[in-house]
Amino acid sequence: MAIRKPRGTQDFLPEQIGNWHFIEDRMRKICKAYGFSEIRTPVFEDTKLFLRGIGETTDVVSKEMYTFSTSDDKEQSFTLRPENTASAVRAYLENKVYGKEALTKWYYMGSMFRHDKPQAGRYREFHQFGAEVLGSQSPVVDSEVICMVVQLLKDFGLQDLNVEVNSVGCPNCRPAYRQKLIEFFEPKKDQLCPTCQERLYKNPLRILDCKNETCKALSVGAPEIHEHLCEECHAHFEELKAFLHAAGIQYNLNPRLVRGLDYYTKTAFEVQYTPLGAQSAVAGGGRYDGLVEELDGPHTPAIGFAMGMERLLLALEKQGLLPEPIVESSVFVLALGEAAKVEAFKICQALRNEYITAEMDGQGKSMKAQLKYANKINAKYVIILGDDELANKEAIIRFMESSEQETVSLDTLVNRISSLVKG
Ligand code: AMP
Repeated sequence: MAIRKPRGTQDFLPEQIGNWHFIEDRMRKICKAYGFSEIRTPVFEDTKLFLRGIGETTDVVSKEMYTFSTSDDKEQSFTLRPENTASAVRAYLENKVYGKEALTKWYYMGSMFRHDKPQAGRYREFHQFGAEVLGSQSPVVDSEVICMVVQLLKDFGLQDLNVEVNSVGCPNCRPAYRQKLIEFFEPKKDQLCPTCQERLYKNPLRILDCKNETCKALSVGAPEIHEHLCEECHAHFEELKAFLHAAGIQYNLNPRLVRGLDYYTKTAFEVQYTPLGAQSAVAGGGRYDGLVEELDGPHTPAIGFAMGMERLLLALEKQGLLPEPIVESSVFVLALGEAAKVEAFKICQALRNEYITAEMDGQGKSMKAQLKYANKINAKYVIILGDDELANKEAIIRFMESSEQETVSLDTLVNRISSLVKG
């Protein structure tokens, strides 16, 4: 049987790549405007990074990681990155970036891997665009990050955005809230879904965002985090809301937004594009003031987000917001006869040296078939080289739009084409 790609992965063929470039270019542009620089980290890391950096009770770590070791070292366990924040923090520490600058603003794009149940908008290999700010605890940066995500999505033309914001507290106030939740859910424990029964003592906040209908119904009337925030978290949250208001960002408060990962503190946010249905979360993020220390670094408050690039593309496609593919015009060099072929090859190389797209036949096609191909690649100019032209050290330039022709000496041909193409 023919070998097929693994379930939950995708091939992106040339006709789709233009869309990826389109979103990536915009992402780079907006990151520049907000002062972020790009990083690239390994696609696989020491498994311990994710165990400690994401949390063993999270779905991502407990169920979805691709973990492996190599035959020469069974002791060493690696994992394909399921997200990039832990890797960014590892790189921040390993390269001692905290000693070089007081504030670090990074962004990344790349593949992430989660062994999840594949469905539309949910893949096993997917791409995230994300950013991290390390070194500030000010709600100014929380607001900047949220503004950047919203501005990017709005600039693409997406309108039905739902921006949800919450504070999940900090190690000072969360334990008491956690206890309140345990007390609230304990009497209903048997009715919770099996996952939430497990979560009850490990991570009861996660029961609040369980998608199971019974769990949803059981959590009506649960204590809300806002009533249990310490003074610092409360003030931080109030300031964040004021900044968002000042920036004209419309948002909804969602006290149930706890997000999947253990390391979040204070701000948590998610941006949904509702028409996407079940997989409507396009981007999510939050503050993680404790993560750098958790990974043995100095106390470094931080915030970040990640955006699903496939989900963004789905949303843009749904709304017809993807650009029409640009068919670049090019030059085709049509050679008739063996001697002409060598000259055609030389001409192609000379044009390519000028970064002009030039092609010639490499399959032994007839003249008719070569012309057909020239049309297919949208060649604006076809250079015709036959025995007669070669003998006179000339070539014919055929203007494909008007069907007009011009004879040029081989010496001036590349310059002539260059001025035609570059104008
Ligand atoms: P997370 O790292 O879970 O907070 O996810 C951040 C964003 O990545 C989500 O809002 C989604 O847009 C996207 N995402 C997460 N998991 C997947 C997946 N399995 N397939 C496609 N996109 C995903």
